[in-house]
Amino acid sequence: MHDNFDSNTITSLRSGKNKLNPFLPYHFLHEQEPGLLGGIESVNTIFLTGRECVFKCLMCDLWKNTLDELSPPGAIVKQIDYALERLPKADVIKLYNNGNFFDTKTIPADEYPAIANRLNDYSRIIVENHPQLCNQSCIEFSKLLKGKLEIAIGLETIHPGVLPRLNKQITPNDFKKAVLFLRNHDIDVRAFVLLNPPYLTDAAESILWTHKTIQFAFDCGVARCAIIPVRPGNGAIDVLWRNNYYTPPSLAMLEKVFENGLSLHQGQVFVDTWDIEFLSKCDLCFKSRKERMENMNLSQQIAPAIQCTCITNYE
Ligand code: SF4
Ligand SMILES: [Zn+2]
Repeated sequence: MHDNFDSNTITSLRSGKNKLNPFLPYHFLHEQEPGLLGGIESVNTIFLTGRECVFKCLMCDLWKNTLDELSPPGAIVKQIDYALERLPKADVIKLYNNGNFFDTKTIPADEYPAIANRLNDYSRIIVENHPQLCNQSCIEFSKLLKGKLEIAIGLETIHPGVLPRLNKQITPNDFKKAVLFLRNHDIDVRAFVLLNPPYLTDAAESILWTHKTIQFAFDCGVARCAIIPVRPGNGAIDVLWRNNYYTPPSLAMLEKVFENGLSLHQGQVFVDTWDIEFLSKCDLCFKSRKERMENMNLSQQIAPAIQCTCITNYE
């Protein structure tokens, strides 16, 4: 059973979703990221409340903040308006919908013009999408924008024994084709890459495959990679953990894959520092190690390592 989680098994292991108002974004924030042409850009990120993703990936916990039904007509635009009234001005906007922006069963295509109209002040617009949904809709939305479109795609891992078991329903070649398609239409791409997906429980091997995956993404033509440490809590990952098919990564592993990725000098590399307390076993150094990674996200330079007696190998 632990080798073959299909969509039904994955969803049957879930707990309840958070209760959300379809007219309100479930979160929004102001942050900073390095620009692709240098300098630091301010970013408004809006986490839209939308219909649950049609895919059911083994490691995904984004469904927790989604709706079962299609949002009412116009609700997505209302959410954007609500957040923009409360956010400061920024260079870049991310519209993350915990799924795929170009899944028209989540965001109907006839809402693109009204959405794009809200984004005229932004030089870059970033949305999430699945490789199988990188199609004409992306181009049509891109044409409506004044700013440049960037699409964030989950490549996850290129490990041949792991990717097919994530129920993502892609191959590395599907990802490559999606990147080529988007790049040919002047759309930038960022990749999400996992650290410690299930079935990779050896620290050294896991670090190696995260690195290989980042390298592959850059070779395909992505501009930046964001490393996401896989966390428990979605039901399926907890079952895998109990059966030794998953191990939470350590902070030292995250630091290592980040440093390795930056030293490629092939594009920008970020680590997701959101909610990473679960990686740390030491209260003495966690805050400064997190701050170091946040600084490295902005500078794209490897900073001197934080020293602490807790740091031995990848524990
Ligand atoms: S495609 Fe993305 S949002 Fe959808 S289930 Fe997979 S990881 Fe989650
Ligand atoms: Zn420590």
